[in-house]
Order: sequence, then structure tokens, then C-alpha cells
Amino acid sequence: MAENTYMLEVVTPEKIVYRDEVQFTVVPAIDGEIGVLMNHAPLVAALNIGLVRYKDSSGAEKKVAISGGFIEVIDNHGRVLAETAEHGEEIDVLRAKAAKERAERRMAQRDESLNYVRAEQSLKRAIARLKAAGAAF
Ligand code: ATP
Repeated sequence: MAENTYMLEVVTPEKIVYRDEVQFTVVPAIDGEIGVLMNHAPLVAALNIGLVRYKDSSGAEKKVAISGGFIEVIDNHGRVLAETAEHGEEIDVLRAKAAKERAERRMAQRDESLNYVRAEQSLKRAIARLKAAGAAF
């Protein structure tokens, strides 16, 4: 077991996705990726749709797709609060591929009534899920 670890929680309104010691975490903050090691200074940051990557205490690296949220770090305790979050292995790849294709079709339409930003957000969520799952897209 590694010594330089701290507690990371990844939670959504629905569930606790992860709660255990980690060696490091990288999060997709609005201004760019932020890496968090033990004894990090207190931090609060808004997060984009993207990947949270962490290395657990056994050294295994994991990827979690999130659809935006916040991170708070204080006293060796990191909390990622996300609207949705899924580990790579729990992602339904076919569903994410279908969501990606649907969003791309919508974005290709020149339809005034279309909510382009909404389709774009959906595309970003699908791409983050496919990346977390390690799937080709
Ligand atoms: P879809 O168009 O496939 O429904 P979405 O981006 O609209 O995707 P969300 O609103 O982000 O879906 O998520 C709704 C719920 O479904 C959340 O609990 C989320 O964790 C889960 N979810 C969404 N896509 C997947 C997926 N590909 N695999 C596993 N869980 C998923």
C-alpha cells in the first residue's frame, strides 16, 4: 500500500461512485486540468464535462466520465460533486456511441429550432464516456 494517499470521493445526486484513498487525481477544471497530490492546498474549482483520472492506493489507474460539476479539496480530503459520473467499466459503450451519433446528426442539421449547445453538450458527454471506457470512436 502506498503511503502518500488522501481520501477521494466522487459523488452524484444519485450515488457515491467512489470513496477511498488515492495517490493522485487529475480533474477537468474549466481552466485546464488540475492534478491533486497529498497535502494539496485548499481548492474549489468548477469542472467541465470530461474525465476524472485517479490512481488508487494499490497503484491502479481508473477513469471516471463526469458531466460537469465541482471539486473541493481541504485537509487531505477531495470531493468531486458531479451531475453524472461513471467508471469506465460500468459504461454502456453502445449507448454512448448511439448518443454520440444522435448528437452529431442534430448538430449537422441547419435547423433554427435546434438547441445546438444542448446537442454539443450531449456529444461531449458521449465522447467522455467512450474515452473512460477505452472504446474506439
Ligand atoms: P443518453 O442520450 O444515452 O441518455 P445522456 O448524456 O443524455 O445519454 P445523462 O443525462 O448524462 O445521459 O445521464 C442519465 C443517466 O444515465 C445517468 O445516471 C448516467 O450516469 C447514465 N448514463 C448515461 N449514459 C450512460 C452510458 N453510456 N453508460 C452507462 N450509464 C450511462
